[in-house]
Amino acid sequence: MSDTRASVTVDDLLRDGLIAPADVPALSPVAQDFRIRLTPAMRGASTSPGVARQFVPDTAESITRPEELTDPIGDRVHSPTPGLTHRYPDRVILAVTQSCEVYCRFCFRRETVGATGTLPQPDLDAALDYIRATPAIHEVILTGGDPLTLSPRRLRAIAETLATIPHVDILRLHTRIPVVAPDRITDGMIAALTSGPTAFLVLHTNHADELTPAATAALGRLADAGIPLLSQTVLLRGVNDDADTLAQLFRALVRNRVKPYYLHHCDLARGTSHFRTTIVRGQEIMAELRGRISGMCLPTYVLDIPGGFGKVPIGPQHVTPGAAPGSYTVIDPQGRSHSYADPDPSRSVHNR
Ligand SMILES: *Cc1c(COP(=O)(O)O)cnc(C)c1O
Ligand code: SF4
Repeated sequence: MSDTRASVTVDDLLRDGLIAPADVPALSPVAQDFRIRLTPAMRGASTSPGVARQFVPDTAESITRPEELTDPIGDRVHSPTPGLTHRYPDRVILAVTQSCEVYCRFCFRRETVGATGTLPQPDLDAALDYIRATPAIHEVILTGGDPLTLSPRRLRAIAETLATIPHVDILRLHTRIPVVAPDRITDGMIAALTSGPTAFLVLHTNHADELTPAATAALGRLADAGIPLLSQTVLLRGVNDDADTLAQLFRALVRNRVKPYYLHHCDLARGTSHFRTTIVRGQEIMAELRGRISGMCLPTYVLDIPGGFGKVPIGPQHVTPGAAPGSYTVIDPQGRSHSYADPDPSRSVHNR
């Protein structure tokens, strides 16, 4: 089934004053290559450059750097059935749809989002059969596209099927919907999310200006329903690549009962180099935040290693080995060095 939700055209963006007339000729091929879509909520919030840059195409998207890949995180490397990725033993990601309510210009799945709609039923059945037959899987992560573009009826059917599989403990949903289309967080949607295994929701959000009053209300409904809320943010040049902007976002999230989980280094998707910072810059920002904001507000800065090798924390590194075995140098939040030593087993202590 193809994706039938309305797209936003270059002309619409021109009318909104979000692109300059002079850029239209260069943007038309970009719009052919990578779909454009914003919800009314995000069109409204696009008076903020931090929001607009995430959704409004840029002529720089026509630049492909040699390191950029069509499958940046290797989703297709570990796919036992269509739509399913099984990279870590205890959890799988299941792309239940390729549709989203918005198309983010930096999306790591930009080659596939919007190309097709919902995962066909035979593929969904095959994925669920694989999960049922694989007792090591404890957690099923619904992704996409955006899983919350599915109807509550479809989500409920998936959640209820997962509830019949004894080894599946956790249903995790990665979504942008509470922010970009908060009206979709209805009582029916919440009932669907809570009809299966213990549900966790991971909100993708990158700038405090996305958290409109309607988004705040939607997050409140989810939290009130007892669904634990986490967030993931992509570090994006020109959007949120400074400590002030991220501090504001992470504090706003915690205020909304959302625990910042991951800060992603921007993946190597085609035409996204204008968004990418260096890893050193990301580490500097994280080090600055460590000294400034509550530990509850701090996510882990991670890189999804290109090629499907998994996500790993990339610092900053606060501890390095010292010269003597068991000795370390530790950097405090203000950047000062301290020594630390493990107990030395050769120096036994006798208490009498
Ligand atoms: C990111 C990802 C996960 C989830 O990883 P966590 O570190 O548990 O959040 C699982 N499977 C795949 C294939 C992923 O890309
Ligand atoms: S909502 Fe997520 S999957 Fe969809 S375009 Fe944005 S980043 Fe990509």
